[in-house]
Amino acid sequence: MNNPHTNAIKQLEKVAKVLRPEYEDKRLFDKAINKLKKPDKIIEGTVRIKMDNGSTKIFKAFRSQHNNSVGPYKGGIRFHKNVSKEEVMALSTWMTWKCSVTGIPYGGAKGGVIVDPKKLSKTELERLSRAYARLIAPHIGPWVDVPAPDVNTTGEIMAWMVDEYEKTAKKRYKTLLENPVATFTGKPLLLGGSKGRTEATGLGGFYILEQLVKKLKLSPGETRIAIQGFGNVGYWFSHYAHAAGYKIVALSDSRGGVYNEKGLNPDKVLVCKQKGGTIGDCNCTDKSCSNKGTRITNVKLLELDVDILAPAALENVINIKNAKNVKAKVVLELANGPTTPEADEVLSKNRIIVIPDVLANAGGVTVSYFEWTQNLQGYYWEKELVLKRLKNLMDEAFLRMWDLKTKAKVTARVATYMSAVKKVVDTMILRGSI
Ligand code: NAD
Repeated sequence: MNNPHTNAIKQLEKVAKVLRPEYEDKRLFDKAINKLKKPDKIIEGTVRIKMDNGSTKIFKAFRSQHNNSVGPYKGGIRFHKNVSKEEVMALSTWMTWKCSVTGIPYGGAKGGVIVDPKKLSKTELERLSRAYARLIAPHIGPWVDVPAPDVNTTGEIMAWMVDEYEKTAKKRYKTLLENPVATFTGKPLLLGGSKGRTEATGLGGFYILEQLVKKLKLSPGETRIAIQGFGNVGYWFSHYAHAAGYKIVALSDSRGGVYNEKGLNPDKVLVCKQKGGTIGDCNCTDKSCSNKGTRITNVKLLELDVDILAPAALENVINIKNAKNVKAKVVLELANGPTTPEADEVLSKNRIIVIPDVLANAGGVTVSYFEWTQNLQGYYWEKELVLKRLKNLMDEAFLRMWDLKTKAKVTARVATYMSAVKKVVDTMILRGSI
């Protein structure tokens, strides 16, 4: 099993080798890189909650704050049985790069609780969320660390955490000095959430696709896309790509997928899924519907001969075992960490372009940043403005990366990391913090 934090360090070391010659003071550069191999701080503790049957349960919980040279720490909170210290450390490192690459003024963080939330009742889930908020309360704040939802955490959970954080902050300061609403993002609209956040990650990935297709001189109608994962990110990405005329030839979820070389309409596939069917069984009764695809497994989907392969579900799905079978021209990493470092080497040797997760799925954290700025101003933007500003930041981040990739003759992943790591290292040097 890959240790995700070891992977994160390997990626950093690889890009440090490329960047090092640019720095006159090598000792200072090496010090900065060494500092970035570890999070600034790890909050590790337990949360104890009362269960509905009167018993007490204890869960292990973490918050990793990786680096805040550029701005407050920023990153989600994950409730999952596989959460580990190494995982939150890695995810917080990737958040530093993700924020840096889009140019938003944040550093990276990530938190998590080792728990299977499906085994909790709603009241138990609320008690767990509030207990976690109390654990991290002394370490967060709008100018310190701004958490958000991640795997198995929702806008409603953020609302409970805002409420609990506000109570704790009032106790601590006797009066309310903090802005509790600006301390969390991904909140429901009623409690200061931003318009456009729901579709932001998939739409941000679509903006990247549009820029990429221009560079590769492809046209939407002749660009075939396969997408693994049909949740928030996979659905919205496929929705916008289909609307713009791209050919979505395969879609899947955890139970398998559907393939149609003539193209699928993701909105019709969504209807099938919502009716309780599996994506693989999606067979519209409407005669004009082109969704009568054939079933395809998740393994086969990753090996399809397509222009764009977009993993939008899990980590490590492209690994040393299947990398040599990937035939796509481009892998657009919408999920976090879908390609292992070993598989990345194989894809690179096979001249497959990999647009890394920290760029491809940065649309979500970008709109979270907009949410935070709206909360701090107390002034809320129309959806059109949110999406326009999202497009500007995603386009600029892509073009910066592509320019560097072309000039330095490196892979898209190395170029993305070069731009992200350089900005953080330069800020650390500028501050004199190393
Ligand atoms: P989600 O829970 O809404 O959807 C996940 C999808 O993956 C579902 O369709 C599920 O059926 C599918 N899936 C699960 N196991 C699978 C398997 N074994 N094979 C194929 N499909 C499988 O999650 P999401 O919010 O869409 O997130 C997807 C990925 O994108 C994750 O890696 C997440 O960390 C990343 N991401 C999400 C956001 C966001 O804003 N939601 C932002 C950045 C990154």
